[in-house]
Amino acid sequence: MNLKKDNPYGGRSQKENPLPDYHLHTVLCNHAEGEVSDYRKAAGALGIPEICFVDHAPNPDGYDPRHRMKLSDFCDYQELVDAEMDQREPHVLLGLEADYYNGCETFLEKWLVSHALDFVLGSVHYIEDWGFDNPDDMQVWNSVDITDTWHAYFQLVEKLVETGLFDAVGHLDIPKKFGHRPAEEELIKMVEPVLDKMAMAGMGMELNTSGLRKPVGEIYPSPLIVSLACERDIPICFGSDAHSPAEVGKDFPAALQMAHNAGYKNYFRIKKRKKYLVPLPETF
Ligand code: ZN
Ligand code: FE
Ligand code: FE
Ligand code: ZN
Repeated sequence: MNLKKDNPYGGRSQKENPLPDYHLHTVLCNHAEGEVSDYRKAAGALGIPEICFVDHAPNPDGYDPRHRMKLSDFCDYQELVDAEMDQREPHVLLGLEADYYNGCETFLEKWLVSHALDFVLGSVHYIEDWGFDNPDDMQVWNSVDITDTWHAYFQLVEKLVETGLFDAVGHLDIPKKFGHRPAEEELIKMVEPVLDKMAMAGMGMELNTSGLRKPVGEIYPSPLIVSLACERDIPICFGSDAHSPAEVGKDFPAALQMAHNAGYKNYFRIKKRKKYLVPLPETF
């Protein structure tokens, strides 16, 4: 079989990556680069079978306008992504990374269901008005109690789960980004109730490789949390959090290894917000 001929983006023999990448951004968020078609080409060159754009969702209530599309950009976003949807691999899905914050439901609960989305990834990036994962606001970490901050974070994630508005939680332990971590026993006490709620709600969890490109140098979430999630049968997906085409599928072999080490046998794919389980490949 001539794989090169079947795949318009090139051969797969050496670089085959059998895992979908469900976390790609676009220029509309004001902090990413590259054409939508370039992200897809990059995925194709790696042999990635499916990609999902989950750019930062608009919040017309004025929440964090600098890092997201405007509500009036959403049509453009949908058109840019739709234009890449055809029968060929990589298949393209339309999603959003929507932030949870107090009051987000007012807009999101009506708006999200009124669009033909495949995937809604729920993330927490702010504790009150502090963008705790923003390098520009990093110095705030020096004046807060680390354990209390993680606790406040997980309380927000718990509320995220309770809304039922999201399909999966993105980068679940992102407060570790710059290296600030609670003691392990504290972390377990905080994260287990959240994971229990996720399991009950049928929510997924993302293995996000962007942490490897950050000071912490570790996938989100940590091996410990991935193991605790596996014990609860929480379905997982994989995301590079690419903000440029070169980051698509980045470090997926490490994420696959992590999933195996935790005991996972399957991961989920999603279409029109309905998840289905697929066996994990053995290796790349
Ligand atoms: Zn971003
Ligand atoms: Fe995020
Ligand atoms: Fe992201
Ligand atoms: Zn993200």
